Amino acid sequence: MSRSAGTDAPAKPLIVTDRDTLAAVLAKVRSDGQTIGLVPTMGALHDGHLSLVRRAVRECDFTVVTIFVNPTQFGPQEDFARYPRTLEADLQALAQAQADLVYAPTAEQIYRPGFSTFVDPPDVAQPLEGHCRPGHFRGVATIVLKLFHLVPAHVAYFGRKDYQQWRVIQAMAEDLDLPIRVEACPTVREPDGLAMSSRNRYLTPAERQQAVAVSRCLLHAAQLAAQGETRAAMMRQQMRDVLTRSGITRIDYVALVDPLTLTEVEEVHADTVALVAAFVGGTRLIDNRQLKE
Ligand code: AMP
Repeated sequence: MSRSAGTDAPAKPLIVTDRDTLAAVLAKVRSDGQTIGLVPTMGALHDGHLSLVRRAVRECDFTVVTIFVNPTQFGPQEDFARYPRTLEADLQALAQAQADLVYAPTAEQIYRPGFSTFVDPPDVAQPLEGHCRPGHFRGVATIVLKLFHLVPAHVAYFGRKDYQQWRVIQAMAEDLDLPIRVEACPTVREPDGLAMSSRNRYLTPAERQQAVAVSRCLLHAAQLAAQGETRAAMMRQQMRDVLTRSGITRIDYVALVDPLTLTEVEEVHADTVALVAAFVGGTRLIDNRQLKE
């Protein structure tokens, strides 16, 4: 445990890497009657993450940010090994955002020898990402449940950027009677519409330009709906066209779904959610928006 050093550095956050210290600090915070907000992240922080942190700081007395690149949610062919790890910069940004505590454990502390218990995620984990990334939500649900136990927070903040993940966590919290409120925060975007993501830093300048089509295809669906279009099949085709016209051809899915069950709809409504997952070069990007935001 150490405090951030430097004469004019903010006193916060407290950086904790072991679970006993974490438990002791948070037991004291709770016994003082303070509310705890939790923001789970995998680090490589950007303004999307920081918007969650700022909201937690506004709404809770004590904000905990976790930084842990969770190996169990990555498939064998995925980018676990090269996922960006930028702890120093993350800590500076979190000091700026006034987070109170950063918990950054090692994989060995989280998955101790003999670890073998996993959460079987809820139905809403099955389509879309669940289909394309088998085992992903099993890993996500397991780490989030562990973090909810390690950090006895009152409120946990997730981004709508990972729409299905938010729904999976929400369903798990409800199904398992977890004593925590799950809040979702709006997606933070670059000025041209690209959703902020730690993976955007993989993009070459040319790919970065192409990537705009990922958000543009969602906007296109919203515009069609605003003009009175309701036929989902036709809208999905047009979303695909936006992607392929910009050179994005490896498309995992474009979907128009019910906001709660995430099952495909035939006719869209104001609350229908459009989602996309596609590769821009070698980088897999996901994005979504509600047709009427
Ligand atoms: P990650 O580090 O990718 O696991 O993300 C940690 C949290 O930040 C998740 O709840 C994400 O949904 C959220 N998040 C990631 N990108 C954005 C964004 N552009 N806007 C809002 N929240 C985001």
